[in-house]
Amino acid sequence: MIKIQNFINGKFENPISDEWIDNYCPSDGEVYGQIPNSSKQDVENAYNAAIEAFPSWSKSTLEARSRILIKISELLETNLLRFAEAESKNNGKPISLAKAIDIPRAASNFRFFGNAITQFASESHESIGQNAINYTLRQPIGVVGCISPWNLPLYLFTWKIAPAIAAGNCVVAKPSEVTPMTAYLLGDILKEAGLPKGVLNIVHGLGSTAGQAIIEHPNIKAISFTGGTSTGAHIAKVAAPMFKKLSLELGGKNPNIIFADCDYDDMLETTVRSSFANQGQICLCGSRIFVEASIYERFKIDFIGKVKQLKIGHPSESSTDIGALVSKPHLEKVLSYIDIAKDEGGKILCGGNRVTLKDYENGYYLEPTVIEVKTNDCSVNQEEIFGPVVTIMPFETEDDVLEMANKVKYGLSATIWTNNLKRTMRMSNKLQAGIVWINTWMLRDLRTPFGGIKVSGVGREGGFEALRFFTESKNVCIKY
Ligand code: NDP
Repeated sequence: MIKIQNFINGKFENPISDEWIDNYCPSDGEVYGQIPNSSKQDVENAYNAAIEAFPSWSKSTLEARSRILIKISELLETNLLRFAEAESKNNGKPISLAKAIDIPRAASNFRFFGNAITQFASESHESIGQNAINYTLRQPIGVVGCISPWNLPLYLFTWKIAPAIAAGNCVVAKPSEVTPMTAYLLGDILKEAGLPKGVLNIVHGLGSTAGQAIIEHPNIKAISFTGGTSTGAHIAKVAAPMFKKLSLELGGKNPNIIFADCDYDDMLETTVRSSFANQGQICLCGSRIFVEASIYERFKIDFIGKVKQLKIGHPSESSTDIGALVSKPHLEKVLSYIDIAKDEGGKILCGGNRVTLKDYENGYYLEPTVIEVKTNDCSVNQEEIFGPVVTIMPFETEDDVLEMANKVKYGLSATIWTNNLKRTMRMSNKLQAGIVWINTWMLRDLRTPFGGIKVSGVGREGGFEALRFFTESKNVCIKY
């Protein structure tokens, strides 16, 4: 059985309490590892290591930091298969996805921010007529906290850590208790890349104890969090009176809006992906599909035909399209929404059942599920399910669909399928979302601002936005 350890001050360590939590393998439901049940004291040790490393790290040259980040990136690429296998096993995602997306993107995060920091400039303002010049210093904050979820474990963990350390901060980070494995493996790579001890400290454990100790630590000055909206609200409540800087990337209930004039085949193929990639456990998945009435029946037949072809299988098999959901409680939550949909008059067009795979009977498999709903007001159109479940319904006019798309508390992303340029401009102006994709989905450029509005989050990460978040700006005014 694998025993995961914390990574504090450049060393692997057991939790002080010597208490451990079982870690499950979603594909067979068996315990296959144990992780530290870290306490406030472990977080304190991580903080102490970080604050000790800060004076030297924050003064290191940009070139030196950049070199280390790029080295981490290269080592992740060299170890791609090992990391992809660990991610797939720990999360239940198909190995093909971990190999093509999760681990390459984790490597890109380090490379991108290793380069970005060397290009991060600040402004100066000449105060004409007052004989003065103002310039802005962008200084690292100090010790920052990074807390990430289970759906894209290393991908999202590194999305925070890389800009934080690139900007000169030292970090206390906590990956999800459900998927700690790749964050644990990262420790070896950090050592090999020569990251000075204490710059990045990884504490494993429960959100309610280890996570809580990070967010309420008086000297951890900023928190970058990705996770559920209710956890985000809790973090804001704790952190706001302490005046911490906060970046919250939260849940989504994203509309996928399909007009009759779209490139149909492209739309169909991408919609299967935007509905069910990673078992639908991506905050950006288009879980509410709205289809223009004139092509609704055709879409329904074609979409369901394609969804039925998806192969549900063991995550380690290269032919698997749909792996296991991340945990038993999560599987139960998703199944409960399918029951709610039925109670509220939704029609299950395909899927809806747990799947028992031969030899892996206790794995958390679920059929990709398409529900036809009559109204946008139903629970399955209003609440985040975060599983392989999408709803479909027709619409008549652009105004109607815009109203339905926006009538939800979330505002993370939206997709529009159309070849009408004026419509894309009108709609992307009016859609309440942090990201709008036109005729594509999840096409990411790491320079762009990333984040949501409404209950999908506060603040933006990505590109220079992340470097701005992880620095404090200071104006210096010189009179001459
Ligand atoms: P959670 O909010 O349950 O957990 C996220 C992280 O927060 C975990 O590491 C968790 O630890 C930790 N945590 C829980 N309670 C606390 C606390 N009191 N103090 C500090 N940390 C705490 O989210 P999930 O892991 O279930 O992830 C799924 C959610 O993430 C979905 O809502 C999804 O939409 C959202 N998400 C948003 C994205 C975005 O960019 N907007 C991207 C990806 C996901 P532990 O695991 O131990 O509970």
